[in-house]
Amino acid sequence: RFVSFEGIDGSGKSTQARLLAERLQAQGRDVVLTREPGGSPGAEEIRALLLTGAPDRWSAETEILLFTAARRDHLERRIDPALAKGQVVICDRFADSTRVYQGATRGDLRGLVDELHALMIGREPDLTILIDIDPETGWRRATARPGGEARFEEFGAGMQARLRAGFLALAEEAPERFRVIDGRGSEAEVAEAVARAAAEALA
Ligand code: ATP
Ligand code: C5P
Repeated sequence: RFVSFEGIDGSGKSTQARLLAERLQAQGRDVVLTREPGGSPGAEEIRALLLTGAPDRWSAETEILLFTAARRDHLERRIDPALAKGQVVICDRFADSTRVYQGATRGDLRGLVDELHALMIGREPDLTILIDIDPETGWRRATARPGGEARFEEFGAGMQARLRAGFLALAEEAPERFRVIDGRGSEAEVAEAVARAAAEALA
């Protein structure tokens, strides 16, 4: 089973992906917790290329190629082998992030994202948990956190609102795959809602 977590910066995806992994492990499930961009040694190297340097280091098109290359390596080297062994794979971001971020932050490139996905990835998670949060709360959480990878400031609040709307639109397009969870509660409250959605969808 393949589960992805999606949401804007600071929504609490990484926290909830970890809490679900711990919960399933405690139930005796064999779980692999991973993330994108990254998740395999080669894809982590590509992540470093993507997240360091000036925002215009790569053209929008090259950036999409790098995200897709990282995903392909992650699938080949980590996700597919784990699924073949019957493990549950929990991934912090997957192709929906590319549809929303690369599809919208630097012009409308959704068509290119979709073509590359069809050509090189061709796969969706069995379940996608969308942690939905208002941009202001996401902003407070992302900036309160130590370390500074978030591109929140680079994108700005208006873009975060558009990204949120983009994720919600994807969830409406594929309701059989998505579960939308209100991310405003405490970590424990959100984790309960995630666990209920996962239990129902993965039963
Ligand atoms: P990003 O995409 O920017 O990496 P994220 O969506 O993965 O962010 P997290 O890293 O899980 O979000 O959380 C961001 C910050 O908010 C962390 O410092 C985390 O401890 C805190 N946080 C996560 N969930 C909650 C919550 N429900 N209530 C309050 N704070 C939270
Ligand atoms: O989720 P994570 O914090 O690991 O993502 C790192 C940064 O890369 C985030 O700030 C996010 O905005 C950005 N990102 C992106 N396009 C993606 C995935 C993440 O711009 N497809």
